[in-house]
Amino acid sequence: MDIQCPTCGEPWDMVHLLEDEPYEWDLHPVARLELTERGRFTGPADPAREAAKAAGWEFAGDSLLSFVRCPACPKESPGILHEMVAKERRERVAAIASVLDDDPDGLASVLSDMGGAP
Ligand SMILES: [Zn+2]
Repeated sequence: MDIQCPTCGEPWDMVHLLEDEPYEWDLHPVARLELTERGRFTGPADPAREAAKAAGWEFAGDSLLSFVRCPACPKESPGILHEMVAKERRERVAAIASVLDDDPDGLASVLSDMGGAP
């Protein structure tokens, strides 16, 4: 099941996100193992969140599925109209993630149905 980045539309496979992507982050092996076992950050202050951000990821909630920016996102703004639509989509991801925070399967299902950015 793919979840598309709300900012750039890049499709990310859910299993890859949860199990493989944390290997791209500069994490201590123990911290990485804990993260992949949980599938989520421990909270806003989780150091793994900073490691993910350094790799290009930003998350609306604690779930690794609630990403709102990914490494494929353009560094430069793609234009004001695209930015407005992307901002709206990021807000939808944040709202969905806050409601389905303790339901990873439901979260994955709703996010994958959302489709990609324009
Ligand atoms: Zn992206």
